[in-house]
Amino acid sequence: MKPTKNKFYCKDSGQSKMLFETEKKANNFIKFNSDEIEAETGYKPVRSYYCMYCDGWHVTSQAEFDAGKWSRTERVINLYRQDQEKIAIEREKEKAERKKATEIAKIKAKEKEKIEKEKVTKNQKIKTDILGNIEKTIKTLKTNGKRADYIEVLNRAFEELNIAKQILGSSKKQKQIENQLNILRHRFRKKMEQLQYKEWFEKQKK
Ligand SMILES: [Zn+2]
Repeated sequence: MKPTKNKFYCKDSGQSKMLFETEKKANNFIKFNSDEIEAETGYKPVRSYYCMYCDGWHVTSQAEFDAGKWSRTERVINLYRQDQEKIAIEREKEKAERKKATEIAKIKAKEKEKIEKEKVTKNQKIKTDILGNIEKTIKTLKTNGKRADYIEVLNRAFEELNIAKQILGSSKKQKQIENQLNILRHRFRKKMEQLQYKEWFEKQKK
């Protein structure tokens, strides 16, 4: 490609410049013609750049991106690229923050689950202890049916059962204990009725 061909007046640089459709074409031009151009003009094209005004690529002998020497278009593009980089960095930051928040939420959920499990285990133990206590009470009531505080002890056992009922779900053991306590109370009431009847009967005889 001869440098005299495809030359256009570029409003941005105020010069007649070669225009290429793509960066690759511009770079290829530099690759294959720069020496020849240097020999002819004394200037050696060393890089290509995009021109907004011409909507294409020019070549230039200006090697350095010296901000002072940049064309207006280059400055605009440069600012645009800087903005794009800033946006990309912001996006990465947001992504990282979202990831971190998700991880924290996961850890918190796990901790909560662990605490819940521990709570259940603890409650399970409390319930087992209460039911064990009531079982002991039932045993003593069965072996000593004539004790003076019989009904007080029995009522306390019922109170303990009510507490156990509020902890976790029902269990087979809890149902058995409730059944046994009801039987003991039923027997106690029967006995009291018999005593009252006896008393009444004795009174009648006098
Ligand atoms: Zn141009």
